Amino acid sequence: MAFKLKKRCKFCAHTLRDDGTCQNPKCVNYTEEQNESKDQETKAGGES
Ligand SMILES: [Zn+2]
Repeated sequence: MAFKLKKRCKFCAHTLRDDGTCQNPKCVNYTEEQNESKDQETKAGGES
């Protein structure tokens, strides 16, 4: 085998991310992409 078998979600059989989270938004096991700055939800444009 030349390529590594990727882990798959046991719920939707979607391939998992490197950290083992599901990337299928429709899946019950879906995990949002982890952003570095999670608390910062400021939208571009500025509200001042
Ligand atoms: Zn899944």
